[in-house]
Amino acid sequence: MSLKTQYDNGNIFAKIIRGDIPSTKIFEDDNILAFMDAFPQSLGHCLVIHKTATATNILDIETADLNKVTSAVQKLARAVNAALQPDGIRVAQFNGAPAGQTVFHLHFHIIPIYENMDTSQHGESKASDPEMLQATAERIHQAL
Ligand code: 5GP
Repeated sequence: MSLKTQYDNGNIFAKIIRGDIPSTKIFEDDNILAFMDAFPQSLGHCLVIHKTATATNILDIETADLNKVTSAVQKLARAVNAALQPDGIRVAQFNGAPAGQTVFHLHFHIIPIYENMDTSQHGESKASDPEMLQATAERIHQAL
């Protein structure tokens, strides 16, 4: 899918925002949703999205909306750090299928890195146990 793709309301994250499919939420307000990645690359891998900006990627979101997302990314990264005490935190964001993007609603990944635990590669992770996702989301939420 090219960088000039029209936003598709049927994408997975649009369905999550509408509540058409479930997600494990960490934080939500009128603009922002942070939720657990269902196929985490590490313990605590979560995603941050804008709820109303229909942008497929970083090129077509209004700057004011992007600023809200990146502020939330920092807030979530700090909470992940406090809750899970990783050795590092990777923040990732992909634009266009050739760059690795698979869901075409702009999103940021927050991926904690642990020296004593393997981190999966992007797109190569297995589905997580829903109870583990819920417990991790609650730990991060408590640290917000
Ligand atoms: P991208 O490849 O577009 O950068 O990232 C999309 C992310 O969405 C991937 O890390 C993938 O694991 C995650 N993902 C795919 N389907 C679902 C889903 O149904 N629910 C959740 N919570 N995450 C998903």
